[in-house]
Amino acid sequence: MSTRGKAFGVPLSKAILMGLAPDGGLYVPQTLPRFRMDDFGDTRSWQEISLKMLLPFFERDQLEPMLEEIINASFNFPLPLVEFEDRIEVLELFHGPTGAFKDVGARFLARCFDSLGENRMILVATSGDTGSAVASAFHGLEFTSVSVFFPKGKISPFQEQQLTCWDNNVYSFRVRSDFDGCQKFVKELFSDQNLNRKYAFSSANSINIGRLLPQCTYYAFASLDYYRRKGIKPKFVVPTGNMGNALACIWTREMGFPISDIILATNANDTIPTYFRTGKFTPKQSVRTIANAMDVGNPSNMERFLHFGNPEKIKAESIPDEKIVETIRSTWQEKGMIIDPHTATAVSLAEPNSIVVSTAHPSKFKEIVEPIVGTEIDIPLQLSKMLERPVNFKEIDPSIPQFTQALESFRSERGQT
Ligand SMILES: *Cc1c(COP(=O)(O)O)cnc(C)c1O
Repeated sequence: MSTRGKAFGVPLSKAILMGLAPDGGLYVPQTLPRFRMDDFGDTRSWQEISLKMLLPFFERDQLEPMLEEIINASFNFPLPLVEFEDRIEVLELFHGPTGAFKDVGARFLARCFDSLGENRMILVATSGDTGSAVASAFHGLEFTSVSVFFPKGKISPFQEQQLTCWDNNVYSFRVRSDFDGCQKFVKELFSDQNLNRKYAFSSANSINIGRLLPQCTYYAFASLDYYRRKGIKPKFVVPTGNMGNALACIWTREMGFPISDIILATNANDTIPTYFRTGKFTPKQSVRTIANAMDVGNPSNMERFLHFGNPEKIKAESIPDEKIVETIRSTWQEKGMIIDPHTATAVSLAEPNSIVVSTAHPSKFKEIVEPIVGTEIDIPLQLSKMLERPVNFKEIDPSIPQFTQALESFRSERGQT
């Protein structure tokens, strides 16, 4: 159903295809399933726990028979819980192909789309992280293609490489405009009836329920693992911007998994901490920080959070850039561990008996992190492979004729009809 009260009884696969509900609200499950610890017996692997946890959401949906395959194909990288200090562990979500936790949601969503077997084209305007996770997740799939739009001269060379190193069903467009111009252009494409009939556009936004549900699985896995080893329900410290990563944790606790307090860490954008302090939700203009994937002043998942009432034992704190820098430095000096700026917001709030969520590999933000720690950061194999791939993009103005022409020449170059 939708957070705005309509769209009852919509099948999950339809909610995934639609992204946003017709009444402008966000799709939410009508109820959350409840689990008991015994339900999980000896189930230990992330993939097996995910299957048990996600099945009730997919019950009687056309994707249900494919769920196991979708999970195994999407969650095909490690999910380590690393000792940080006595009674504090770090959950590393960055071992996927693009080195950030957005791989989890994007890969699952991509496989859902493709398993539905309809030809569709995902449009994504990006200034960094999300675009590369989406491009990588859909690359090489059978039915779904992706067009990525990024602003010329407004992203780092490393980010540009990650957005343009694709072929086959991923088309990259460097747009002579800024990020807002790219977003506006994508909206224009969505509202063009003729193009929509031809290409069947869809979106892979972070508000898609098909990205949020798979994010619950790492909280289920980590909380069960910690509880079985220590006999204590862990707290979670979660870096969040759009409230997506936070909401996944909150829903997982609602479903009965052994999670105690939830501590949310934001950067200087303090809309969420202000809400938890005052009870008033006041969206703001976002400010730029060094943890820029969390630069959100109007977190769209707040509407989903408010839909299920106000759970207890959640607190939130805003971490200014200076504190992020200090935390990166002290974590390196005291623990020999290099963390990225997003993870640092959470590390600075770590408490005993907690799991701190790490959302990106520090090499993704090496321009920021290397000067702080004064040492070079190794790039993991999956990222360096991506950096070696040949670049392939077309430059356009935000104009529909230029887009269709560039797209058609991509397709003829690639032998696609
Ligand atoms: C997107 C992102 C976040 C925040 O996730 P939300 O879903 O907005 O809560 C945190 N860290 C990194 C590295 C990200 O890319």
